[in-house]
Amino acid sequence: MLVQVVELIEAKRRFAITSHIRPDGDGLGSSLGLYWLLKALGKEPEVIMRDPVPHSYRKLPGAETIRVTPVVDREYDAVFVIECSDITRPGLIDLDKQLVVNIDHHATTSPFGAINWIDSTASAVGEMIYNLCKAIGVRPSKEIAECVYTALVTDTGSFHYSNTTERTFKVASELLRAGVKPAKVSQAVFNNYPWSKLELLSQVLPTARHDETGRVACLRQTLEMQERTGALDEDSDGFVNYPMSVGEVEACAFLKETAPGVYRTSLRSKGDVNVARIAEKFGGGGHRNAAGCTLTGDWDETERNIVALLIEAVEHGSNGNNGSSADAHAPIVGGNTPTGQLPPTLIRGTLNAER
Ligand code: 5GP
Ligand code: MN
Repeated sequence: MLVQVVELIEAKRRFAITSHIRPDGDGLGSSLGLYWLLKALGKEPEVIMRDPVPHSYRKLPGAETIRVTPVVDREYDAVFVIECSDITRPGLIDLDKQLVVNIDHHATTSPFGAINWIDSTASAVGEMIYNLCKAIGVRPSKEIAECVYTALVTDTGSFHYSNTTERTFKVASELLRAGVKPAKVSQAVFNNYPWSKLELLSQVLPTARHDETGRVACLRQTLEMQERTGALDEDSDGFVNYPMSVGEVEACAFLKETAPGVYRTSLRSKGDVNVARIAEKFGGGGHRNAAGCTLTGDWDETERNIVALLIEAVEHGSNGNNGSSADAHAPIVGGNTPTGQLPPTLIRGTLNAER
């Protein structure tokens, strides 16, 4: 709870802050926002992450102070774990030996900390960090405001997604009052990619498929595409959103091969379609409309299986049954497609047909 977090901060001094592997805008913005808040209180905070800061977030105030380490190798009074649904998400060895404070806004989060402050109504953990500033009596500095705003703007898809609320805009407005320039943040985060991202996109986009109804889409990125284009791991961030921009598409899976037969999978949906439930079946998690997990197996079969689950979720999404009864390994009707051929349930878009 918030009051326990406030008491702990007041009572202790040396803190570490961490977030999930391959940190995103909310993970980094909220961690650094909390870092600046603790600094303002005269504490000794340090942000530690298993993975380096992606290019898009290098301009965040304090990003250069983040220590990349695979292990919690120092002694702290407490470690704040930001935006993680379980204790393994930060990917840090020996984290479980620390006094852990879990701060998250995922509905799927387990109470793994000694203190757990979970608010699934918050659009981003950034919104919670702003509330923490208020509760502890610190006026957001420009540094805090820029970090928290970055968390908000990224997790709400620039205030497009359904997690955007009146409160989100209220907080954003306060952050502008504290000195945030929205155009500057958006330029740094959304218009600052390396050319390799465009080259990778040009490989991935032709793999886009949709089912017969056009309501479920998928696309894939092979190891070879990444090697050929010399792309960074983070370059594929956001690719899952391209099929979602099509009017009829209600759910999409992006499968990214990270080792032969291993696919980091991003799931997205619109409205009531719950993809977090699907991700959870495979040990992943996330939000109703944005979730992720890791899948393994043969390319076509894995794609067909996840698409089948999405089709079921889309068909049942609006009547309250969000596909949770689906068997993850149920074969799709008309399966046994030879590798390299188009799976029967999936249709290429005209983009590819013209090639
Ligand atoms: P993305 O597809 O952008 O990687 O992730 C979308 C959402 O799902 C984010 O809220 C992210 O934290 C969550 N997510 C992605 N992968 C995993 C996973 O493997 N485990 C859990 N628990 N959440 C995940
Ligand atoms: Mn978030």
